[in-house]
Formats: sequence, C-alpha cells, structure tokens
Amino acid sequence: ARMKSKQIRQTFLDFFENKKHQIVASAPMVIKNDPTLMFTNAGMNQFKEYFLGNSDPKNNRVADSQKCLRVSGKHNDLEEVGVDTYHHTMFEMLGNWSFGDYFKKEAIAWAWELLTEVYGIDKDCLYVTIFEGDKSENLNRDTEAYDYWKELIAEDRILNGNKADNFWEMGAQGPCGPCSEIHVDIRSDEEKAKVDGATLVNMDHPQVVEIWNLVFMQYNRMADGNLKNLPAQHVDTGMGFERLAMVLQNVQSNYDTDVFTPLIREIETITGHSYGKTEQEDIAIRVIADHLRAVSFSIADGQLPSNNGAGYVIRMILRRAIRYGFTYLGKKEPFIYQLVNTLSKQMGDAFPELKSQKNLILNVIKEEEASFLRTLENGLALLDSMVASMKNDGVTVLDGKKAFELNDTYGFPKELTRLILSEHGLQMDEDGFAKALKKQQEGSRKASATETSDWTTLREDDTQEFVGYDRLSGDVRISKYRKV
Ligand code: ATP
Ligand code: MG
Ligand code: MG
Ligand code: MG
Repeated sequence: ARMKSKQIRQTFLDFFENKKHQIVASAPMVIKNDPTLMFTNAGMNQFKEYFLGNSDPKNNRVADSQKCLRVSGKHNDLEEVGVDTYHHTMFEMLGNWSFGDYFKKEAIAWAWELLTEVYGIDKDCLYVTIFEGDKSENLNRDTEAYDYWKELIAEDRILNGNKADNFWEMGAQGPCGPCSEIHVDIRSDEEKAKVDGATLVNMDHPQVVEIWNLVFMQYNRMADGNLKNLPAQHVDTGMGFERLAMVLQNVQSNYDTDVFTPLIREIETITGHSYGKTEQEDIAIRVIADHLRAVSFSIADGQLPSNNGAGYVIRMILRRAIRYGFTYLGKKEPFIYQLVNTLSKQMGDAFPELKSQKNLILNVIKEEEASFLRTLENGLALLDSMVASMKNDGVTVLDGKKAFELNDTYGFPKELTRLILSEHGLQMDEDGFAKALKKQQEGSRKASATETSDWTTLREDDTQEFVGYDRLSGDVRISKYRKV
C-alpha cells in the first residue's frame, strides 16, 4: 500500500529519532528581526547561530519538518510555481542535522538507508551528485563524498555538480558548504530508454527531480564575499516533503499527492472547473492550491498581508492566486478563503497553528479577496476608458507606464491587461512595462530590506475574534483583532 503523507513525515522523524536525533518543532516561516532574511527558506535557518558558533545546541543531533517559503531573495521560486509541478512557494523541508558531531559518512549512509531500505525506493531510479570544486574560490572536488557514495551506488550514477547546484548557500551571507544531492528519475521505462537519466539531472525535467540535499557546512560567506572556515564541521540536510510524497505515492506531480488532492478537489467543486483539462486552468488551480498554503501558514505565524515588507510579499502572493482565479476560472467573488477549512483539517495535526488560527486565516483571506476584487473592477473600468481614448486617437499600443500604473495602483495583472487589449485588437508596450516594473522593484527591495512592520505575535492559547479592517489606509490593523 502507498504511504499517506502523514506516515511519510512520521517515518522520517522516527528514523532519525532512532539514530539518536532530537525531534524539534518547525521554526516560524516568517522571520522577525533578521535583516538578512524575511522568510525561512531552509531547515537550517533556525540553527544558524549554532553553525556560526555563537551559541551551543542542547543536542548535537536534531531532525524536523520545517515550513519554508521561497518567494524572495536568493531562493525565489515564485514564477515557477503553478507552471511546473514540483516547485512550491510554501513547502515542508524534512531535515536532519549534526552540529559538530557526525559528518559526511553517516549523513550519506543514513540518507541511503532511509530512501532505499525504509521507503523502498528502487536504487535504479536514483542519481547522486557531488561538488566538482571551484578554482576561483579555491575549493576542491569532494572526493570524500564520492568515496562514500561509491560503496552504495554504481559509479556511473555519481555525477559531478558545479557551484550553482552543489555548493549550498543560505543567502548572500551566512553558513554554506559543498553538498551532495540525491535525484530521482520517475519516468516510465519507455521514456528512460530514449534518454539517459544522467543527462536530465539538474535540467528542470518534471520527472527527474532533486529530492534531498546533504550539505556539509564548513564555511561562512562574509559580507565582503569571502569564505571563512566555520569553527566546526556540520551536516545540514533538506528533503522536499511534497516531492518525496510524489515518488512514494507513485504519481507524476506533487499536486497529485494527498498533500494537494483534497485542496484541488475542493477548488473543482467551488469553481466548477476540473483539473486536468486545459493547461491554463490547471496552472490556475495549482497556483491557488499552492498560494493558499503559503498565505495561510504566514497568517498563522502572525504575518498578515499589508503594504510593506513581508506583509507586502504575502499580499502579492494572495493577489497572484486571486487573479488566476479571476482570469482563468471566472471567479468574480471571494472563494479562496473557503479552502482554509480543508487545509486546516488536512494539516492541522502536524501544524496545530492552522487549527487554532483557522478563523483568523479564513477572515483575513476573505477580506483581502473582497477588497482586491473591488480594485480589479475599478481597474477594469479604467482600462475600458483607456481603450476608448486609444480608439478615439487611433493609437494601437497602450503606453507601458499606463499599463504599469494599472498594475501598481490597482494590483491589476499584466496578463489581464494584455488579454483585454487583444480583444480590441490592441497591444501593450511590453518593454515600457518591464522598465517601469524594474524601477519600482529596485525601490521596494530597498524598502523590504529595512521594514518589518505589521507584525503580531500569536500565541497558541490566544483566541482571537475577527472584527474588521481599517479601511482608511487599506491596511490590516492588528487592533482590529479583539482578544476573546
Ligand atoms: P531545485 O534545484 O529543485 O530548485 P534546490 O536545489 O533549490 O531545488 P535546496 O535548496 O537544495 O533546493 O533544498 C533542499 C530540498 O528542498 C530540495 O532537494 C527539494 O527537494 C526541496 N525544494 C527546494 N525548493 C523547493 C520548492 N520551491 N518547492 C518544493 N520543494 C523544494
Ligand atoms: Mg531551487
Ligand atoms: Mg537544485
Ligand atoms: Mg539543492
């Protein structure tokens, strides 16, 4: 029988508990007061100070499942999400760590044991990569990892990887090191016969995907760009939970695992659009299922949508989902909030904050949807008047700045502008739009690096009742949540 996702997560934790690891809770996904990082983008973030030697861990072996968000900074997957089937905004990263305890040998042997013996993944589906070295940084090829791997796997399945793929860095600064990654090829035998899997590793093939990264933490990337040795050597691993579920549940997409199917069935019921019919609708459905999770976990962590900093990022994620629903699923009324019940039921055992904050999450999303759909309508009216005057003046290309203003002021999606224009035989100045966007992004990057407002700390035992929004600023005001 195929393992359910709950059991997959538990099996991982049990395995490492048996190897004397302490099982710890996920850190919050939204990071407070770290100027170098807005959201947790990997399991190791919460242990940064241990690697740097600034504080000592209680236990030198730990494991967990960490909520991660990759929508900004060094690891930004937002544009891929929904378009492909294995990058999410929010995902769970299963990880095990050694803080100055075991190193490459055990990390490699245990990863192999768990995947092939415990989860039963066929060895002939697996490839591993090792760091090939980098002259410019004076880094050697990881022959040590190679030698451990060749005891376990055929040598033609051990591939060299470059710095981009096999030297892991948290961000522009911080702990980093060479890594060894495990990739799985889940193509049919027929497809495998056509193309050698080894050539597809790290090539963005939806069925030849990276599942587990074993990082050997040895360096600290300094602000000046140089590498400094860390005080000790550590192991930091991260395995994509949803990708692992795809492999173990014998499906071709993360969205076909039981992590996502309840949400997708609910979206089908609410919108009347079925998954698996057209690419556009499928992307929209995947975007909504994915983004709902990111936004819900963020609100549960106390980060509400707002106009700056992390809150702005969350608002944009939700708006991306709303506009996909509006454009491709024809939803003119709020509906995404209805999925919170399903998500909370499905993931509330592993992440109790989804249960305790359910009503807050639901109400915040509903209000955001309602207010954005209103702006969308205003934007539509403005675009209509632009179209009328273009026709009047015999102009066929909408000024890029105007299109951007629609996007920036009304949160009005570019795709929608393009679509409506084309219905009138008109076009949009794409270059002008891109220029205006770039200018604005440079400004907001500066802002998001410095601002951390609109934050509220929600404790487990806080029961809050939703009262409403402060409509004057359009921002969510924490004071509107009344403790009950
Ligand atoms: P990829 O090359 O597929 O983008 P990555 O090399 O950026 O992945 P790592 O930083 O090595 O990813 O993270 C460890 C593991 O987390 C990956 O091996 C993968 O299984 C998973 N993972 C990374 N990014 C995502 C994402 N956006 N959505 C889901 N899982 C992810
Ligand atoms: Mg990546
Ligand atoms: Mg990778
Ligand atoms: Mg990787």
